Amino acid sequence: MKFLPLRLMIVAVCLALSTSSGCAQSTNKPTANAAPPKLERTDKVVKTDAQWRAQLNEIEYNVTRQKGTEPAFSGKLLNIKEAGTFTCKCCDLPLFDASTKFRSGTGWPSFYKPIDEKAILDVPDNSYGWSRTENVCSRCGAHLGHVFNDGPAPTGLRYCMNSVSLKFVPKGKAKANDSSAGSEDPEPTAESATEIQK
Ligand SMILES: [Zn+2]
Repeated sequence: MKFLPLRLMIVAVCLALSTSSGCAQSTNKPTANAAPPKLERTDKVVKTDAQWRAQLNEIEYNVTRQKGTEPAFSGKLLNIKEAGTFTCKCCDLPLFDASTKFRSGTGWPSFYKPIDEKAILDVPDNSYGWSRTENVCSRCGAHLGHVFNDGPAPTGLRYCMNSVSLKFVPKGKAKANDSSAGSEDPEPTAESATEIQK
């Protein structure tokens, strides 16, 4: 008889440890139960479906415009550690500073804080029978990922993002403008100048 309480305790501990983690995890909404903020930007980016399809590749379009999810550990930005800024793949709005990125082990780029609280909108997401909080870009509405309340200090939040929803701009390479023409004139260097004969 005296073993029974101990066995019950072991069962209880095992049940407590069996919760999983990851982007598919069900958590309470970390942003309390207030209605999602409706931030009215004056610089909204609105494009037609055809324009988004032309701008994005297949998986980028599926994730950002159709709320898809990239396979875990597939993203090119997952292991970036250098200083810089993560921006929206669709509209280039700065979303996260690289200093807030942390290794979550989930297989998706994870951050504990947006670069600006107005950059990302929280949207209740009850799909698949879970109560989650979706994150979208406040400027163009791109689906970015979800936010959970099991992140590290100082916020305790884990912004679980799709790599294909983001671009990485290394520090010091902030784009001067939206020129996507691509072919910049090569800057003449001191070496090439001295090679000019006479
Ligand atoms: Zn955007």
